[in-house]
Amino acid sequence: MAIARSMESEFRFNSGRLSLDLAATIRRRASKPIDVIASAGAGARWLKAAGLFSEAPALSKGEEARLTELREAIWQMVNGAMHGKLPERAVSIVNRAARYPLGTPQLDGTTGTVSVVSDDPLATAISIIARDAIDLVSGPLKKRVKACDQPDCRMLFVDTSPGGQRRWCSMQRCGSRAKVHAFKRKHAASGHAH
Ligand SMILES: [Zn+2]
Repeated sequence: MAIARSMESEFRFNSGRLSLDLAATIRRRASKPIDVIASAGAGARWLKAAGLFSEAPALSKGEEARLTELREAIWQMVNGAMHGKLPERAVSIVNRAARYPLGTPQLDGTTGTVSVVSDDPLATAISIIARDAIDLVSGPLKKRVKACDQPDCRMLFVDTSPGGQRRWCSMQRCGSRAKVHAFKRKHAASGHAH
């Protein structure tokens, strides 16, 4: 169980969308970027944690590169969509990834469980992520995509709160930090007031 918990905390799945969760595997993109899937096997563990594989697949360097290429294209495409202009190259990378067919569900008559069959499971997983990104930037939730207010974070997330007032990727991570800063600023200001 300890292993399961540490695996969970390795990645974040709180952006509200699978495609943005992949983009969020680069943390603190706006300041000191940390690529959490750069180490050996981490991309495969992310795919499993994201529910796209039942077991972490063995990925070649080239396959890992396909995942990170899609990640970059998604980030650029969604960021572009937020600013009213879709970047051509990023769109073509995402479109190409989305072309691969989704897997075929197959029911096990004995256990009643479903397995998804694909000739190329990684291409299918990448296609699922790419389709999610296309759906996001072309649908009504596009207006709800935000970058975290914390300047060193800027993680992209979908604000699904009823009032649309969410400012941070996570209250625990960035919201509380911002509040501590605001508190310190306020007190510093009043301390210097004459
Ligand atoms: Zn944040």
